[in-house]
Amino acid sequence: MADAAGRVPLVVANWKMNLVPSGAADYAARLVARLGEARARLERTCEVALAPAFPALDALGRALRDAPVALAAQNMHAEVSGAFTGEVSLAMLEDLGCRYVLLGHSERRQLFGERDTDVAAKAARLADSSVRPLVCIGETLEERERGETLAVVERQLVAVLDEASDGLAERMVVAYEPVWAIGTGRTATPEIAQEVHAAIRSTLVARLDAAGRGTRILYGGSVKPDNAASLLAQPDVDGALVGGASLDPDSFAEIVLACLETL
Ligand code: PEP
Repeated sequence: MADAAGRVPLVVANWKMNLVPSGAADYAARLVARLGEARARLERTCEVALAPAFPALDALGRALRDAPVALAAQNMHAEVSGAFTGEVSLAMLEDLGCRYVLLGHSERRQLFGERDTDVAAKAARLADSSVRPLVCIGETLEERERGETLAVVERQLVAVLDEASDGLAERMVVAYEPVWAIGTGRTATPEIAQEVHAAIRSTLVARLDAAGRGTRILYGGSVKPDNAASLLAQPDVDGALVGGASLDPDSFAEIVLACLETL
């Protein structure tokens, strides 16, 4: 259900480089079964998306055809097409029915050298697309300890906003993912998450006026069934991006159900 600012919560599973395409249908069936009785409420109040590795997008998209669960990709190239061996274009994601694409995940930034300018160029490519950017930002442990958290997330966000048309910025979803909390079992406290989300909200409102109040800001970083509710209850936490705990459909369903409980 949209809140007063029109924000419908969004819970996204990031499978990273895990699970194989032949397991996609079974995952989808187990997730839908576990959501069971909550399905009608889910359809009215909350959005859910799954981001498998590229080879599983087709099989998962087919398996989700009648489910209230959208398809998301984990990355894409900024160019339309061409000699970019091993890369995937926006047109390919559109053809497969993706509703979202993750951009600038910290693993892309840290392990594959993606810079703010690369993330901004990818986001800008989505200007006239039905695929929405889900832009990941977040500080490393060293940056947090140096007191640079808010400056880092602002720099990463503004780089994207500077290149985005107004329409695109309004369709964008932001995920705050402190790097020190990703895959480490260390979660930001709800207070830390809210503090950073509120700062991100201020930047969005300063740049987009009222539309910035409608931008969803997800939290990501070791979200689990037992900590999801307290994070999702924060006023500027509009959903979750879930890595490790999304690999098991039952545990991901628990997080989705926790989100419904906060509404
Ligand atoms: C992620 O990869 O976006 C993530 C948040 O991972 P985890 O939940 O495993 O920390």
